[in-house]
Amino acid sequence: MENPIVALLGPPGSGKGTQAARLQDQLGFVPLATGELLREARAAGTDLGRRASEYMDRGELVPDDVIVAMIRDELANLDDKPVLFDGFPRTVAQADALEGALEERSRELSGVVLVDVPDDLVVERISGRHEDRDDDDPETVRERLQVYHRETEPLVAYYGDLGLLRRVDGARDPDEVEAAIRSALERA
Ligand code: ADP
Repeated sequence: MENPIVALLGPPGSGKGTQAARLQDQLGFVPLATGELLREARAAGTDLGRRASEYMDRGELVPDDVIVAMIRDELANLDDKPVLFDGFPRTVAQADALEGALEERSRELSGVVLVDVPDDLVVERISGRHEDRDDDDPETVRERLQVYHRETEPLVAYYGDLGLLRRVDGARDPDEVEAAIRSALERA
């Protein structure tokens, strides 16, 4: 793959962030993690951060137009570097917008890796993590999971139909998940 563009898909707590960090270090991807970008914007007190804040605290998705504008800005700064999306796209509208934005740059998505983890493990993992995120209380986690199933899971079929989806079992230790993602990427 020459300068691939890859997206990691999966529920909150699936370990996407951990895996994205590893792939970034080892394969030289530029990471675009929308949740991280939003938390930074909020900490910096920008307009974007202020708009996003209330949605994040409720465990809801930030509106598509806000996210798409943010991603367009990021892509504009990247030339043709390899990109790893973490937490984007999260809706069919975002996936459609991504396709358009990439087309304008004569680029395309190389593959989408679904890091698959059952709901009960998601709840167990997030209640045990200590990142001190405002949206990690049990009620908000349940909301984020529901939002995932309703808004984001349709992307499994969307990218499946395009022949871009690779499914990886995320309910294993991080080294095994990483190996599975790497081999999925080699096949992509
Ligand atoms: P997680 O995957 O654990 O839910 P993220 O850091 O990816 O964590 O996202 C945290 C929050 O940021 C989400 O609950 C949502 O409010 C917002 N967010 C992140 N990415 C997106 C996106 N692509 N579209 C809409 N909202 C997003």
